Amino acid sequence: MAAAKLKVATVSLAGCFGCHMSFLDIDERLLPLLELVEFDRSPITDIKHCGPCDIGLIEGGICNAENVHVLREFRDNCKILVAMGACAVNGGLPAQRNHLPLSDILQEVYRTGHGLAPGSRIPNDPELPLPLNQVHPVHEIVKIDYFLPGCPPSGDAIWSFLNDLIAGKEPTLGHGLLHYD
Ligand code: SF4
Repeated sequence: MAAAKLKVATVSLAGCFGCHMSFLDIDERLLPLLELVEFDRSPITDIKHCGPCDIGLIEGGICNAENVHVLREFRDNCKILVAMGACAVNGGLPAQRNHLPLSDILQEVYRTGHGLAPGSRIPNDPELPLPLNQVHPVHEIVKIDYFLPGCPPSGDAIWSFLNDLIAGKEPTLGHGLLHYD
């Protein structure tokens, strides 16, 4: 009888989807991967909530209340949780806003800056996720089991890391795969 497939979930929080694009750089290796794993919530599927999973890959840091909710759902459901990419590991590019008060940023973007129509209203629809004052790396919110740095980590690095986890081994990145940029 074939071994049961492991369940893997992935999500992009305060990220740019670049880590997920890098994941897709594993190209044709996606086919043998699908022999071993089944995707739960992920941009690859249309599943809206993370169910019980073996491995969860988190792209992006935490910039709003919805990110916190989704991250906690992943932590509650995933046996192994991986911070994938610089934004998840340390806040990355979005955390550059931490140097400024949130109210100043909203004023600049929506009311006084040049990016949007000057004088437009700061969005406050209750449907919108509440922004946090600071952008946080994911380990400040929940326990993270592994960290995979890089902006983004290469497809080869993600492939190697994931294969080690699937094989039940401590993930190690060989020469050339571990980088922080
Ligand atoms: S680590 Fe880089 S590629 Fe990944 S989500 Fe952040 S900015 Fe995008």
